[in-house]
Amino acid sequence: MCSRQIARSLSRALMSRPFTPSVNIARLKESATLAVAAKARSLRAQGIPVIDLGAGEPDFDTPAFIREAAAAAVEAGATRYTATEGIPALREAIAADANRLLPSGAEPFTGAQVVVSNGSKQSLYNACVACFGPGDEVLVPTPSWTSYYEMLELARATAVPVFGTAAQGLKVTAEQLAAAATPRTRGLMLNSPCNPTGAVYTRAELDAILSLADQHGWWVISDEIYLRIAYDAPATSVLQCAPARDRLILINGVAKAYAMTGWRIGWSIAPLEVTRAMIAVQSHTTSNPAAVSQHAALAALTRVDDANAAIDAMVRAFHRRRDAVLEALGAARALAVHPAGAFYLYLDVSSFGGDDPGARFSAALLDAHQVAVVPGSAFLTPSWIRASYATTEAIAVDGVQRMVRLLAAGA
Ligand code: PLP
Repeated sequence: MCSRQIARSLSRALMSRPFTPSVNIARLKESATLAVAAKARSLRAQGIPVIDLGAGEPDFDTPAFIREAAAAAVEAGATRYTATEGIPALREAIAADANRLLPSGAEPFTGAQVVVSNGSKQSLYNACVACFGPGDEVLVPTPSWTSYYEMLELARATAVPVFGTAAQGLKVTAEQLAAAATPRTRGLMLNSPCNPTGAVYTRAELDAILSLADQHGWWVISDEIYLRIAYDAPATSVLQCAPARDRLILINGVAKAYAMTGWRIGWSIAPLEVTRAMIAVQSHTTSNPAAVSQHAALAALTRVDDANAAIDAMVRAFHRRRDAVLEALGAARALAVHPAGAFYLYLDVSSFGGDDPGARFSAALLDAHQVAVVPGSAFLTPSWIRASYATTEAIAVDGVQRMVRLLAAGA
């Protein structure tokens, strides 16, 4: 056989061998929110004008002072590897930012407890892998952001959904969590303001949940990525009420509040030994997040007045859109979770019937009205859909009016 024949038969043999995913990812599902965004993009590429209410991404540009700081950092040589856990100045700035929330007299965090990661998504993954493993159960208030379930699966732990009721804005109570716990329960995921519902836990609700977790010695992973985006009142951080912090992992990042999704900077703040474990995980997976992005985040966190002005302006715009979208809902407002924070509207479309009313509604909405939303099955609540109003007010209102027309027309 000549070498060309050998190469040909080799490539045929390789092509005919199917790929069997490893057990690590056998049950992993594609991110439904990213899938919707991809579908909307592909329809647009075909020239179909789609209103995309699927994306969980602010439509604002990163504030100019942050972009300028990043450009200056690149010119100054921020082009190399940094320490896996991030540059010291940023770790200190993150600790200082969190310390502002602590009650007076509480022991402050130090930069040594911080790991800077490629988005809070990686911080959450590091935390899940570091704290949970086979046989461990982790309570997930549901509906919740779709990646928690998959990250816990990747950690080979068991995500235990605990369902909130519509009467309580789909939030869960400490009593519901206690009822779902078993001797194998090791932790709890918290997210307030919540993606996908926009619900915000009150101080009293958080106090009750945190003291339950404390009694049982559960890890609490509190994802506060939307903390600054709240409308009716400032959202409460667990740092303002945590009775104990030795089992608390705080997750945050610059993506949403600072309109910095593409820079990929998030972080964890945790007890030192957990931080060390997460650094080890990150050191073998991605190493440090991009040096230039770390410098951008450093400007965001240290130029506090500039950042507050930019965040306040964006939150005011989200607030106006939230109000406009609620008005556009009209009587259908009764079907929505009250959106007190983040930039999502979570709507009960169970009137569409079937096993998966949210999927039926979303498909009909895209086909007949060219509006992309995320079916609630992505968040384990198939009777609902999520629409994001992180887009212009006119587009958000147009999209919601089309949703109302579809609701009125029925399945
Ligand atoms: N946590 C929640 C609740 C989110 O909605 C998202 C993004 O949509 C993330 C974390 C991830 O954010 P980042 O861009 O910092 O990875």
